Amino acid sequence: MNEQLRKRIQNRLAGERGTVFKDAPFRVTVAYPNTYAVAMASLGFQTVYRLFNAEPDFAAERAFLEDAELAPPGRLVTYESGRYAGDAHVFGISVAFELDLVNVVRLLRAAGLEPLREERDDRDPLVLVGGPLTSSNPWPLAPFADAILIGDGEEMVPRLAEAYRQAESKAEFLDLIEGMPGVFLPDRDAREPHWATAPLDVLPVYSQIVAQQSEFPGVFLIEAERGCPRPCTFCLARTMYGPTRNVPAERVLEVVPEGVAKVGLVGAALSDYPHVKRVGHELLARGIKLSVSSIRADRVDLELAGILREGGLRTFTIASDGPSQRLRDLLKKQITEDHLLRAAEIARDLGFKGYKLYQMIGLPTETDDDISEMIAFTRRVAEITPVALGISPFVPKRHTPHFGDRFAGIKTIEARLKRIQKELRRLRPRVEVRSTSAKWAWIEAVIARGGPEVGLAALRLEDGESFAGWKRALEDVGWHDPLTLPEPEGAALPLVLG
Ligand code: SF4
Repeated sequence: MNEQLRKRIQNRLAGERGTVFKDAPFRVTVAYPNTYAVAMASLGFQTVYRLFNAEPDFAAERAFLEDAELAPPGRLVTYESGRYAGDAHVFGISVAFELDLVNVVRLLRAAGLEPLREERDDRDPLVLVGGPLTSSNPWPLAPFADAILIGDGEEMVPRLAEAYRQAESKAEFLDLIEGMPGVFLPDRDAREPHWATAPLDVLPVYSQIVAQQSEFPGVFLIEAERGCPRPCTFCLARTMYGPTRNVPAERVLEVVPEGVAKVGLVGAALSDYPHVKRVGHELLARGIKLSVSSIRADRVDLELAGILREGGLRTFTIASDGPSQRLRDLLKKQITEDHLLRAAEIARDLGFKGYKLYQMIGLPTETDDDISEMIAFTRRVAEITPVALGISPFVPKRHTPHFGDRFAGIKTIEARLKRIQKELRRLRPRVEVRSTSAKWAWIEAVIARGGPEVGLAALRLEDGESFAGWKRALEDVGWHDPLTLPEPEGAALPLVLG
């Protein structure tokens, strides 16, 4: 093994607690198409690792695409034993983001596997692909996976393990899992299955490994609630995670091991979690720091904010999502300017260092007036507290009411971003504006609603990904926009519907 890679792995393992070193007849590689730090902050990735290792005859080890840069081609290794990642019975990939699609192809190659399912045979590991992207849109992954797993891993992994024990070939394994909740066999099924939903009594899930080099260094993550009862039209939480399941406070508290310095509570809308204050107070009483994944402006009060401040949170992060009240109402966000201003006052009064405010632009029916309202509102917030404005272009997703809405257009979004930057520039450093790229949002929109042909386009890009490269590759595979609606004003590129 390359010396630099060996040291990297050693160093990371030394900063971990909870790593499973195990030998068993069935080897599983749990692989992540991005960096170690991002993977270790993913409870889904950690849960699959835990669940396979909980099966007595399975041993799961981790591999990360990031390490391919230091490994010879096809020789990516696992962290636990240093074996080749592709030398496994099962090769599981957890994909969270649309833009990791090309990384899935790279990951398979880095492990010495042919990316296309049709070019692998019984000697190769079974390639199983799960993660949030599969719930949102599994189709671009269809050319690569033997099976795509949609929904809660707690429900699926034990059944997959049992089928694997019984099967004597890949085809037999696929026969056995065909029709199971959440199992999508791309070469057999014309439709996506019902998502697998775990019952409340198997929750919460929590970190198997606490890693110092994670995006959340040294934080023990616990998912206190799954799903969201709110109706926000743009968000997948309601559909993707199934019914809302609130884990009783006692169960959340009892999984926190001795010696943990910081707990991260995870959930789609954690400030709606009915026990958040109780759990927060009890953790603080044990001397444990605390962070939460999301706070809604309408749920913030002095008590909750005080818990978070005492728990070590320095920046208040709030999503407004719609740039104007009209658009927040259209999105059913149930947040008003008063909620957002009140949250800013609380952030100021309790000494938070900053107030991060997330907005989306490029929403259906959006006009310049909506952007004017956002600019004026940001000025009002800045009079209360310094604000970091995070702006993302709106990407319509499947399984939401926006499935048939058009992407607003790169030119439109870039023009609006430019205007926002210009008009808020003079308020620096009181207001900092950060935005994500309109071009990459367009690619994300293509993948979010694309079919298998978008996966085939990604296959052409594994050696170098660029916006122009994506456009060429999409053209090469014959991708086209099936929307026949008239082009909205300012839209610069073809729009997408999967
Ligand atoms: S945006 Fe937040 S509150 Fe709205 S549905 Fe999604 S997770 Fe729930």
